[in-house]
Amino acid sequence: MSASPADLVREFHRAFGLDARDEPSEVSPDLAAHRGELLAEEAREAGEVAVTGPLDRLAHELADVVYVAYGTALVHGIDLDAVIAEVHRSNMTKLGPGGEVSRRPDGKVLKGDHYEAPDVAAVLRRQGWTPRGEA
Ligand SMILES: [Mg+2]
Repeated sequence: MSASPADLVREFHRAFGLDARDEPSEVSPDLAAHRGELLAEEAREAGEVAVTGPLDRLAHELADVVYVAYGTALVHGIDLDAVIAEVHRSNMTKLGPGGEVSRRPDGKVLKGDHYEAPDVAAVLRRQGWTPRGEA
C-alpha cells in the first residue's frame, strides 16, 4: 500500500462530512462514546473471525479495525502514524544489545533490560497537545 491509512481515512471523513481535527483535542462525550462503540464493535468482529475464519473475513475485519482506529485518531486530531512510529521505536528496544530476544513460553516477546517505554505524550505534545490541567 502506498498511502498511509491516515490519508485514505481522511478522504473518507471528508467525503461523508465526518469529524476531522488537525490538532490533538478533547471531543464531546457523545462523539467520544460513538467512536468507542465503533472500535469495540470492529474489535469484537475481528476477535471472532480470528478464531473461526475464514481468511477473507479475517482480512476484512482486520482492515475494519485499522480503518476505525485511524478514523478515531482523526476525530481526535491525533497523527496516528507518528504514534505508531513511537510505539515501534519502543518495541524494538525489547531486543538486547546483542540481538537476543527473551520470550515467554507462549512466544510473547518480553521487555529486556534495554527496554524504553513509548513516550506517546511527547509525540502528542509535538502535535500541539496540551494535557488537561496544563492549559
Ligand atoms: Mg467489520
